[in-house]
Amino acid sequence: MKFGTKTIHAGITPDPSTGAIMTPIFQTSTYVQSSPGEHKGYAYGRTKNPTRDALEKNLAALENGKHAICFSSGLAAMDAIIKLLKSGDEIVAVNDLYGGSYRQMVSVYAQFGIKTKFVDMADLTALENAIGPDTKMLWIETPTNPMLKIVDLQAINKIANAKGVISVVDNTFASPYLQNPLDLGADIVMHSATKYLNGHSDVILGAVITSDDDLAKKLFFIQNAVGAIPGPQDCFLTIRGIKTLHVRVQRACENASEIAAYLRAHPKVSKVYYPGFEDHPNHSIAKAQMRDFGAMISFDLHNNSQENAYALMSATHYFSLAESLGGVESLIGHPASMTHASIPREDRLKVGLTDSLIRMSVGIEDVEDLKNDLEGALRKID
Ligand SMILES: *Cc1c(COP(=O)(O)O)cnc(C)c1O
Repeated sequence: MKFGTKTIHAGITPDPSTGAIMTPIFQTSTYVQSSPGEHKGYAYGRTKNPTRDALEKNLAALENGKHAICFSSGLAAMDAIIKLLKSGDEIVAVNDLYGGSYRQMVSVYAQFGIKTKFVDMADLTALENAIGPDTKMLWIETPTNPMLKIVDLQAINKIANAKGVISVVDNTFASPYLQNPLDLGADIVMHSATKYLNGHSDVILGAVITSDDDLAKKLFFIQNAVGAIPGPQDCFLTIRGIKTLHVRVQRACENASEIAAYLRAHPKVSKVYYPGFEDHPNHSIAKAQMRDFGAMISFDLHNNSQENAYALMSATHYFSLAESLGGVESLIGHPASMTHASIPREDRLKVGLTDSLIRMSVGIEDVEDLKNDLEGALRKID
């Protein structure tokens, strides 16, 4: 089955009792048993739910994995993955990552004795040197957030496999339409399905995908034993959103490519971060491991005061000032005070995340309207 068919059909079958083409929302906490322990595979809603089962099968197929395990949010999915470790174990993470992931590592798990070291994974020697005897997991994002750096998944996973370390890729920014890390040697893929997978800004949901039976068994155990499961209605909405994933992400990528070029030519813009540019440091790796270059763009202004960035963000109409990404509508945001506020300023500046950096999630509106919107806003600022 090709990708654009999987989004619609993988794991999805008409409801056997009615023929309903849409997966029903099984809004139930428990299931009736004919005698104690005698049931149709469903005993209690935390452990198993048919709407969730359909979503999990679909997600496994989209990432070319064997198993998918869903959670109540992307960060709950991450939490389940880190629970595979124990006190004394160490994580080596990419140094330019989602602020909430950073916060979970340094403000939650560090106090349980699971420490994280942050490295620039574009530098493979630095990565190899960072892996020590206690390192049990690599935490990878590409493209990174918000600097849109690209790291070489195949090369990094090779290092992880050679050292016997579990490699985890947070594939939220790319979505499975653009990139399939398991095919490039990763052990685990994580998603905030809140973003591109659902795509309509109306659900918070997370997922973990793997082909490793042993890891899957542990993750299903954690899903049930800890209990951060998504509700059936959210699973339904995510199934519904995924049906158009390939069409939405393709259009968003086309829009982003045009907007990146427009911004780069604008006299008030000093720098545009977008992996689709041929002079982006890892453009060739992006080209090799991704189907397209994504729809996230970050940029900086010549007048790089925070006030000027704020003025721009409040002058756009179609680009709404909001956290999050990956929905049909275009969003604009200020990482330093919004998504990445939990990262200390000196650490932010080290990776180029200035006080005036602006991040955009390009949606699927008409690209002419989007460009005009930015043009009007840029005219109003210094
Ligand atoms: C949003 C996001 C998360 C967290 O997901 P939630 O669904 O908000 O919990 C993790 N990683 C990345 C890259 C994200 O963008």
